[in-house]
Amino acid sequence: MTWFSLPPALAARTDRIALRDPALISDLHLNAAQPATRAAFVRFCAELAPQHAELVILGDLFEFWAGDDDPDTVGRDVAGALAQLAQRGVRVYLMHGNRDLLLGSAFCARAGARLLADPTLALVDGRAVLLTHGDAYCTRDVDYMKFRRKARGALFQKLFLTRPLARRRALIGQARATSEAAKAAKAMQIMDVTPAEVEQAMANAGVHTLIHGHTHRPGRYPHVVGGHAVTRWVLPDWNLDTAPPRGGYLRLRDGDWELADLAA
Ligand code: MN
Repeated sequence: MTWFSLPPALAARTDRIALRDPALISDLHLNAAQPATRAAFVRFCAELAPQHAELVILGDLFEFWAGDDDPDTVGRDVAGALAQLAQRGVRVYLMHGNRDLLLGSAFCARAGARLLADPTLALVDGRAVLLTHGDAYCTRDVDYMKFRRKARGALFQKLFLTRPLARRRALIGQARATSEAAKAAKAMQIMDVTPAEVEQAMANAGVHTLIHGHTHRPGRYPHVVGGHAVTRWVLPDWNLDTAPPRGGYLRLRDGDWELADLAA
């Protein structure tokens, strides 16, 4: 299957972009309590990202997002760093994660970013690559999948955003506490992607490469789709406030993908 022969259902709900020399990041979980991680991101935008044609953020840039009307300084500073990058000619693409689903058009306008659908099909240097946050493939976590369907509903989001900001922040705080407690009780395997789901998505999209975040298990994972060896790249999460520091990004080096470690 080629770029031009996508099944209609997938073609209808998938963005397509062309990338030349992207840096890909995800799961920075930026928030007020982690100043070193925020500083690393600002430095990344000023020094490393400008060496690329595109910066692609595959979700969970923020630890939580209560709405674009939140005057929180973390959101303002991050938008500023991205806008400066965009002004330097780097295209900035942003995908929702599960934690910052409510990032909207106002934030994107401030950041000079374009919001991507999940998944998005990217043509990178002539090769089709599927980009996704990754939580959609964690199907063994039945409770989470149920929540995911609800939280992604347009009506649910619309109603949520009509609540006062303080109430939204309180509700998100409760949801985060519940989720942390649930995660502690779940088997590690449940919170990883289901290989068969990944392979089906890659077969449907006709790609040999899939890039996602979310699972915090950075690396290069081999899969087999239709008898072909294919590759799943997982982006690292960032945390430079707790030892050992971690963070990084995915880039192309001599035609091959490579994970670059920021914390080393
Ligand atoms: Mn996530």
